[in-house]
Amino acid sequence: MNEAVYASRRIDLMPWTKYRERLAKAPVIFLPVGALEQHGPHLPMGCDALLAEAMAARVAEALDGLLLPTLRYGYKSQARSGGGQTFPGTTSLDGGTLTAMVRDILREVARHGASRIVIVNGHVENQWFLTEGIDLALRELALTGRHMQVVRCEYWNFTPQTVLESLFDGGFPGVDLEHAALLETSMMLALYPQLIDMAAIPEDATGVFPGYDSYPQDGRGVPASGVLAPARAASPVKGKLLIDSTVAEMVKALRQEFTV
Ligand code: ZN
Ligand code: MN
Repeated sequence: MNEAVYASRRIDLMPWTKYRERLAKAPVIFLPVGALEQHGPHLPMGCDALLAEAMAARVAEALDGLLLPTLRYGYKSQARSGGGQTFPGTTSLDGGTLTAMVRDILREVARHGASRIVIVNGHVENQWFLTEGIDLALRELALTGRHMQVVRCEYWNFTPQTVLESLFDGGFPGVDLEHAALLETSMMLALYPQLIDMAAIPEDATGVFPGYDSYPQDGRGVPASGVLAPARAASPVKGKLLIDSTVAEMVKALRQEFTV
């Protein structure tokens, strides 16, 4: 995607006067949220934020929407979905901090007059804290009589099952174990090939976990590399297929939700 097109939708890159003008058309406004979290020896730690942002930018392009600056930190990594908090570099927020950030941003854009917001999440562990931020903001807004509609979505839920099946020979391991694995690596290859070190993809990867979480987490079951499922078969072609098919489904769903 053309970087200039993407930039033209970012509100942090426009003057307030331009933002006000665009806002008058009641656009859908996107808030991508990710994390700063280890993603194996081959992917950058900003992976979840970069992917959420890329999806949001493409969907915003299709719906003539606007983009809020991406939240590049997220809730604490969990062993079974992100390798946990034992890795250097993984830099996480307390749940209350993330909740408060989301609540504050929503309150502010409501004050601007925005009424249709989509939070595009790229990090499994963020989900309920985003929801809590939305709930607190809406509860506050209800008292002022302002109305705002907020969609929270995890982009991976839009990837068609047929696409997933076509990419996995031995069966889809599930989205949690796909941390730094085939899906994320493929999409990152399609978007940021210069940031990916294919030679560093580990052989060891497959997390083995019980059906519960035990705290304090000590890294048990997490492969030393931090990659939770095999990534070797990743490719930019698969990444493009994943991105295009996911974006198409997101656009379809949001058109319906917001009648745009
Ligand atoms: Zn990730
Ligand atoms: Mn993550």
